[in-house]
Amino acid sequence: MGITGTLVNYYIHCKRQCWLHGNRINLEDNSEDVKIGKALHAVKASESTGTEIAVENIKIDKITKDYLVEIKKSDADYEAVKWQVLFYLNILKNKGIERQGKIEFIEKNKSDRKTYYVALDDENIQKLSIIEIEIIELLNQPAPPSIAINRKCTKCAYYTYCCI
Ligand code: SF4
Repeated sequence: MGITGTLVNYYIHCKRQCWLHGNRINLEDNSEDVKIGKALHAVKASESTGTEIAVENIKIDKITKDYLVEIKKSDADYEAVKWQVLFYLNILKNKGIERQGKIEFIEKNKSDRKTYYVALDDENIQKLSIIEIEIIELLNQPAPPSIAINRKCTKCAYYTYCCI
């Protein structure tokens, strides 16, 4: 499996989740949270003229003249989403397309919307290359990292797999 934005997100969020997803142990369809996320994407896609765009093995929610837009239903792990978006921006940059990142968190009640902006710089490009190497090393390990239960686990698609 090539490195994807989802893997980068999971790597920052939880190394075990990254390993499980990267080794194709996918339980996401069982997760209510993932279903909500997919429904949200479907609604946004129907509202927008610039719908989901695929570039190589990445899927971008929306791209405008100035921004690559990533839409999430929860800001529970901003760092993970930030690095996912930086990963996308770097791929676009390598193709000669320069954009800033716009992250929109749309909570279920829709009145609560938060927007953040991110931009590539030399430092985070360098960190991304380290993250990508570390992800490859992680995925090549014969077993996943051990479970470190924390508050993130209750909303994770792998909750039943790891914790019950
Ligand atoms: S349930 Fe917790 S330990 Fe297991 S993959 Fe999810 S976040 Fe990681």
